[in-house]
Amino acid sequence: MVAGNEAGNLCRKQAARKQNGSQNVKLLLFDIDGTLLRGHGRGKQALIEAMQASIDDRGCTHLFGAGEGRRALGEAPLAAPEVQTNPGMQNGIAGKTDLQFVHESLGPELTDAAIAEMIPQIFAEHSRRLREYFTAAAGVELLDGVRELLEEVQRLHRSGERCLPAVLTGNIQAGANIKLKVFGLEPYFVLGAYGDEGRVRRELPPIAVQRARDLTGRDFAGADVVIIGDTPNDIDCGRPLKARTIAVTTGPYARDELAEHEPHAIFDSLADTDRVLSAIFADD
Ligand SMILES: [Mg+2]
Repeated sequence: MVAGNEAGNLCRKQAARKQNGSQNVKLLLFDIDGTLLRGHGRGKQALIEAMQASIDDRGCTHLFGAGEGRRALGEAPLAAPEVQTNPGMQNGIAGKTDLQFVHESLGPELTDAAIAEMIPQIFAEHSRRLREYFTAAAGVELLDGVRELLEEVQRLHRSGERCLPAVLTGNIQAGANIKLKVFGLEPYFVLGAYGDEGRVRRELPPIAVQRARDLTGRDFAGADVVIIGDTPNDIDCGRPLKARTIAVTTGPYARDELAEHEPHAIFDSLADTDRVLSAIFADD
């Protein structure tokens, strides 16, 4: 039998543990491109070609003039999957949702309604081309330390439920799955928010939080939401939720450029698993 004071202390300790446990569960929102893997422009190429194909199918080529469409859409390295990353080209889409990129690309010439009508065809064609272009054989690469980090995150999720691993990406869901599947990464994530669900990235974290609540019954807010990404938009999209943000310089943005947006931590890669996990679970 436990004496009164001891029982009180025990209850307080149990309550504290329960409370700490609750505080320590983090919803981890991983960006994909430039954070987990690098596509060297093939994702943008697939999307631009899909837009061009849709324009051609609808006889809208007059909007851009012969050969002008491709220039207007960003001069993708058409039919040249071997072309390496052009940093300037990458900046055009990095951090944006696919939906946003399509609207920005076609918006000057087409109405929102006309673009919305074309979206299913564009995204279907985009996925078809991604399956063709986005392969390890074509040079798409998994970034240093990613698998090791995800393994550890998965272990923490399964053993102590200290975290809920998810993706938060500008890719449409089909595109995200194609990209993750190249390296067998899909099983590491329990949910996601995707680039066909918001015109801007800020719309995506609340979607992920709602899905996490539906799955666990737990409310994630503030520093319990951790966004890991490679662009200013990744950092910015966490602000309304006061999320913790971890930036990585493996995308098109340099450390100084990311630092201007004041993430909680910046890494040159995700290779040092212990340091990255410390930054993710830090309380500051
Ligand atoms: Mg990215």
